[in-house]
Amino acid sequence: MCIPQVEIHGVEKLARPFDPATREALLARVRFYRDLGLTEFYRRPVDPALLAAGPIETLSTPEPASEAWDTTSQPATLEVYSMPIRKPFSPPPDLANAVPAADRAAALQLIREDIGDCTRCALHKGRNKIVFGDGSSTARLMFVGEGPGADEDAQGIPFVGKAGQLLNNMIAAMGLKREEVYIANVVKCRPPGNRTPEPDEGNTCSPFLFRQIDVVRPEVLVALGATAATYLLGQRQPLAGLRGRVHAFRGMQLIITYHPAYLLRDPRQKKEAWADLQIAMRELGLKPPARS
Ligand code: URA
Repeated sequence: MCIPQVEIHGVEKLARPFDPATREALLARVRFYRDLGLTEFYRRPVDPALLAAGPIETLSTPEPASEAWDTTSQPATLEVYSMPIRKPFSPPPDLANAVPAADRAAALQLIREDIGDCTRCALHKGRNKIVFGDGSSTARLMFVGEGPGADEDAQGIPFVGKAGQLLNNMIAAMGLKREEVYIANVVKCRPPGNRTPEPDEGNTCSPFLFRQIDVVRPEVLVALGATAATYLLGQRQPLAGLRGRVHAFRGMQLIITYHPAYLLRDPRQKKEAWADLQIAMRELGLKPPARS
């Protein structure tokens, strides 16, 4: 694949500025590739005659967004690529040292207080609200996303935008209520333009996520997308090879699936994600609710 070597904000470096619609379409396309786990882009040398020739073709966003969740379809296959890395963390507390259920909400509050009005990485400069986590401190199932978007940044709650609506539908399809699960992100502050967190940002923030996980100690953890998978596993690996099975993770079961934002862009992959969620349900002994 040959597209410019840019992070999303790098588009300005192109020889000729794009018109706003083309720029937005290009940004959407780069985000789409990012959701697939493709983070390194290379720019082909541009023929100056082409640049002089007139408007550049407008890229379109691949699929219309839909938050609907259909549990009937069957999986297909898709190749996905890699993301940045973090250093290994200290081992998880053994079961005897797990936080008792009655103390978990307070333990999470302590982590939130440790984060404070955080300025540990550059992401603090653009944030409105720190998005710590949401849901039950005694959840059996926890979801981990990448980082807050605009809606989350405004409200201080993870997954409340369009991707959040789809995640809510995914949770409901599993026969659960959102309040019954716990949801957190790799980074707690919104990356500018919803770009992928830089490794130093992810590495700075993810220890708080690990502490949240160690407090909640869900039976099953679902990583939503390549960034969550990378920081949880501590290494980059193609998402395609990580999906569809259970990983042992700090004494818990880790399942890796697509990010809801990616599913909004490519709804054909919802059936794959549903297959992953069914693995989570099997591990939790859950049956999907009867369809009405
Ligand atoms: N995407 C994420 O990864 N996390 C959120 O909280 C919202 C969107």
